[in-house]
Amino acid sequence: MGNELTGRTALVTGAGAGIGRACALKLASLGARVLVVDRDRESAEKVAAETQGQAVVADLTAPDFLAKFPDQVDPDQVDPDQVDPDQVDPDQVDIVVNNAGFQHVAPIEEFPPEVFSAMVKVMLEAPFLIARHVLPGMYARGWGRFVNITSVHGLRASPYKAAYTAAKHGLEGLSKVIALEGAPHGVTSACVSPGYVRTELVERQIADQAKAHGIPESQVLADVMLGPEAIKRLIEPEEVADLVAYLCGPSGSFITGVSLTVDGGWTAR
Ligand code: NAD
Repeated sequence: MGNELTGRTALVTGAGAGIGRACALKLASLGARVLVVDRDRESAEKVAAETQGQAVVADLTAPDFLAKFPDQVDPDQVDPDQVDPDQVDPDQVDIVVNNAGFQHVAPIEEFPPEVFSAMVKVMLEAPFLIARHVLPGMYARGWGRFVNITSVHGLRASPYKAAYTAAKHGLEGLSKVIALEGAPHGVTSACVSPGYVRTELVERQIADQAKAHGIPESQVLADVMLGPEAIKRLIEPEEVADLVAYLCGPSGSFITGVSLTVDGGWTAR
């Protein structure tokens, strides 16, 4: 790997922190121009400065969030035969990393419906709307990459994670459809499905998990989170970003419609 992504523009959602930030840094290190999408202005601008990219401050639950994104080819107007692939706008998106997400842990009977809805919006509806926004341009240029950060919970369920499990399973399905529709146009789509990664999202849910399972916080990591993993450690965000970069580079060109687990053996069970 070197400057293999030079000339590509990568849009990374939730890039202000954790896995998204690691992806933004990695893709930028390979030459990509990064659009750092996050609802948190301060962190988006910080990562944009770190990557020499562009901050896009947008809340993916907002109905008009796409208005904050750089203009793309209008999907309702596009006629691929009329688009000149040599006239490439630098704002046009070549790589999408659908990463933004959040967790809420509660039994179904206590799960707030508005939180369920917001989680589905961020982790499933937003990736669909982004795909709808950028695919015509990718098709016109004959190249595109989607990497969807799902989770082991895209493939397995856990109690108290109704919205997260449902949204991530949905994103796994959406990714496969993008793979099938995009294949004739040089567009691939794959999911990266981590176990527990050392980020704020994990730190924040330890107290909630302790409450839901009725155990002390000190037991949550070993007994609940790392319980199903054969390798008993958290993954680092940079390890996830390395796989994302592989999928975006030339070696990833035939990897589509799949889910690649980085889960320390969780799904081997
Ligand atoms: P994180 O909380 O550290 O960072 C998430 C980022 O997304 C934050 O910067 C936040 O501001 C942004 N974000 C959240 N909601 C948003 C919204 N509505 N609009 C715009 N930005 C928003 O989380 P993380 O651990 O880095 O997780 C990133 C992704 O990886 C998530 O989709 C998560 O489900 C997935 N994942 C995480 C783990 C883990 O253990 N940390 C494991 C598997 C999958």
